[in-house]
Amino acid sequence: MTTNISKYSMGVGDRFGLEGVAQLRAFQAAKDRGVTITPVWNKSNREHSLIGTRPREVRAEAEAAVKSCQWSGPYFVDADHIGLATVDKFVGASDFFTIDVADSIGKTASDASIARYMAEMQRFPAVLRIPGIAEPVTVDPASLQEIASKYLYAVEEAGRVYRHIVQEKGEGNFVTEVSFDEANTPQTPAELFFILAAAAREAIPAATVAPKFTGEFLKGIDYVGDIERFSREFEEDLAVLEFAKQTFSLPASLKLSIHSGSDKFSLYPIMHRAIKQAGAGLHLKTAGTTWLEEVIGLAAAGGEGLAFVKALYRDAYGRYDEMAKPYLTVIAIDRQALPTPAKVDSWSAQEYVETLEHNQACKRFNIHFRQMVHISFRVAAEKRSQYLALLNANRSSIESHVSHNILKRHIEPLFLGT
Ligand SMILES: [Zn+2]
Repeated sequence: MTTNISKYSMGVGDRFGLEGVAQLRAFQAAKDRGVTITPVWNKSNREHSLIGTRPREVRAEAEAAVKSCQWSGPYFVDADHIGLATVDKFVGASDFFTIDVADSIGKTASDASIARYMAEMQRFPAVLRIPGIAEPVTVDPASLQEIASKYLYAVEEAGRVYRHIVQEKGEGNFVTEVSFDEANTPQTPAELFFILAAAAREAIPAATVAPKFTGEFLKGIDYVGDIERFSREFEEDLAVLEFAKQTFSLPASLKLSIHSGSDKFSLYPIMHRAIKQAGAGLHLKTAGTTWLEEVIGLAAAGGEGLAFVKALYRDAYGRYDEMAKPYLTVIAIDRQALPTPAKVDSWSAQEYVETLEHNQACKRFNIHFRQMVHISFRVAAEKRSQYLALLNANRSSIESHVSHNILKRHIEPLFLGT
């Protein structure tokens, strides 16, 4: 087993587990152009339970894809957003663990633990000069105390989860990510620095860390927020990581992980420039974008495929609350802006595709419709055999949609800069 994740890596989700080969072809195309990106198949506990899949199926998919494409580089299977309560079912199948401790943020560590941490942090000056950040970062005892109260318990919890995985899998046999992206507010440079200090104290060999950024990272649609502010936060986080690596015993390969919710097209050129300039690595997580390509492929096929995705929409539309419930914090659907199922039934294949496909230059594109279909995969899971048969009947066109989407819309702008 290797834990040698390359400088660039990308997480791909695959609701039904059939597109591993098509996804991997996109990574191969990048490699042929001289840029190695490690593929990581990620699926969260939430997604497994909504769709009725198991972690070992993701492992099987990844292995089959790797074999079929003769992929010779490393690849990983990510237990996405796990904690102590959920990690066990992933331990056998996964070799990448995204330890999510957002729920523990704000829970306070013991007084003794905070006192020890505060004492150890005394070795840092009250004014930190972090190369790459223009303004010095001032950390007086009161603000350090605040950071400790807010984050120390969460990092200790990450340590407990990490050590639990070590017990099961052995040290050095998996990649560790620590994620804070589901926190309520973005971490400041000072917070990130002292979080990493705490992670180093817990001896978590984090390969990737996912901070929270300003703005909304909604499912399947572009970034909503202040792009300039994001850009500044991203560059600052890169600088903090570099500085922290030099300051604490953290892996030299430590890099940022962006939980994108997929399709943050307006951020890709910004992130590309920043990582190039800093010589930094990056992990990008996507999910759901492949499922939408399957729907697009079926719609484009017309006939039974189109009829299926129209019926899927009708069903999901009538069960809106049930579909939306697990995703309320990561969608922004204006129900008034959704077409009625009767309207959708009247569409041609082209109208369905153009309304769904993430092409902001297209007048028909409807971000509310796209988000609605994004969260409707459970309806397809309920009609699994019919859905899978349709996918099989349209295999080659669906695969070309999936590969094209990953390569052209994600890998090229973010990692290749084209
Ligand atoms: Zn996330």
